[in-house]
Amino acid sequence: MIAGLRETVCRLHAELVRYNLVAWTAGNVSGRVPGEDLFVIKPSGVSYDDLTPESIVVCDLDGNLVEGDLSPSSDTAAHAYVYRHMPEVGGVVHTHSTYASAWAARGEAIPCVLTAMADEFGGEIPVGPFALIGGDDIGKGIVATLTGHRSPAVLMQNHGVFTIGDSPKAAVKAAVMCEDVARTVHVARQLGEPLPIPQHDIDSLYDRYQNVYGQRSAR
Ligand SMILES: [Zn+2]
Repeated sequence: MIAGLRETVCRLHAELVRYNLVAWTAGNVSGRVPGEDLFVIKPSGVSYDDLTPESIVVCDLDGNLVEGDLSPSSDTAAHAYVYRHMPEVGGVVHTHSTYASAWAARGEAIPCVLTAMADEFGGEIPVGPFALIGGDDIGKGIVATLTGHRSPAVLMQNHGVFTIGDSPKAAVKAAVMCEDVARTVHVARQLGEPLPIPQHDIDSLYDRYQNVYGQRSAR
């Protein structure tokens, strides 16, 4: 099971590159090992082209290396904190994608002014606190902001994006969609004030997309 998850998480890093969400090595994907107090995550400082399933490391929920030859990502403590405190989360993604990070640099939540935002995020994409890398502060900020919030994405102030999902793929999708709507709302802002969507319409879009849309077996 861990081998399959390592392969999935390795492959999903290529999506970060494909969707132009990362520069150099600044972005990572992790996935919880079902039924175990473990997760797999990108090794630190390895370029995306050089990632292999075997290079993906296994950590416990305190962020300690359990299996692998390389050091885990420098963001491992944040991922571990999320897995410890949000048992429903099966995948976490972190990027510094350009437009979303520009909103984070201003400490401004992205308002829900697109139906695609209502679908995926169920409202605005919120801002989390400024926090330094190293301890639990980033993880605490993610969990405090996303607990009880519909959005699977948080803009950590002056930093970048963290997304969560019930799988690593769902968290990657949220990261892709977050950058997409951050860009569109930014562009919309250049020539005027985007129109808000009434809350009851946001609610019905969110409900339809989350519960009715798409092929059930493929989700
Ligand atoms: Zn970062």
